[in-house]
Amino acid sequence: MKLYAPSYYKDFKCIADKCKHSCCVGWEIDIDSDTLQAYQTISHPYAETVRNSIDDGETPHFRLFGDDRCPHLRGDGLCELILQLGEDSLCEICREHPRFYHETARGMEVGIGMSCEEACRVILGGDYRSFVLLEDTPAMQEDIPFDIHPLRERAYEILSSPCPYAKRLHALAAAFDITLAPDEQVRTVLASLEYLDCAHKELFACYASDSVMPAACEREAERVLAYLIFRHCSPSWDETDFRIALRFCMTCERLLASAAQTTDASTLCSLARIFSEEIEYSEDNTQTLMEL
Ligand code: SF4
Repeated sequence: MKLYAPSYYKDFKCIADKCKHSCCVGWEIDIDSDTLQAYQTISHPYAETVRNSIDDGETPHFRLFGDDRCPHLRGDGLCELILQLGEDSLCEICREHPRFYHETARGMEVGIGMSCEEACRVILGGDYRSFVLLEDTPAMQEDIPFDIHPLRERAYEILSSPCPYAKRLHALAAAFDITLAPDEQVRTVLASLEYLDCAHKELFACYASDSVMPAACEREAERVLAYLIFRHCSPSWDETDFRIALRFCMTCERLLASAAQTTDASTLCSLARIFSEEIEYSEDNTQTLMEL
């Protein structure tokens, strides 16, 4: 089994206490069964604190504290669990976040998700067209009959071509026969989504597909769209599915262009992170927009 990643992947490292939007705040952290078993049997002065912090519901998870903080997140932004028990003690979600995986006909691919501010910084500065082989193990590769790579490469070729940004978007839509849903319909759907912060619902109410991406943001916008294609089009099982995912990605790009116009944006980083946290990291919101 081969494991590939965009070349920027190796530049990512969690910035822990320097992170302003820690993934240890606001999210329920589910504990996988192997880690739960380890927590139940571990012998260490901090082990009882760990056990007492777990809510044994249908899906065991850490009971969040005031302001929805993970109980092991210290005031200085460091993780007490890592400090006391080492990185190996982390549950799968904490160990893997913000990584995501998908299988393709040529092997497994791993990426980093834009809801993490450091991942977002890395993605927006990285080269999305080059990939590196991270692992090559004897494990069996699943048989995936549809190869998305030629379609994805074609999309990347158009996106990185040396013509004005707006023209590249038009060319991409034309090449894949993409028509975005009418603005009013997209705005209605955006207003119906669930938001972590209702201020973002207002921010996204400005959706207009003819918004002009600020010139200063075009380079980053190209990378955001490439990331979206990598994440959402790569798991497609046929060409129609690829086009549906691409339409979702292009609608999201238009959403960012609209938001960028209302916020004086000279960089897309914070908007892209907000978009990712609110839309991409909610399966329901992503699904609703895909179905448009
Ligand atoms: S959001 Fe990213 S940088 Fe911040 S704590 Fe989580 S993994 Fe680290």
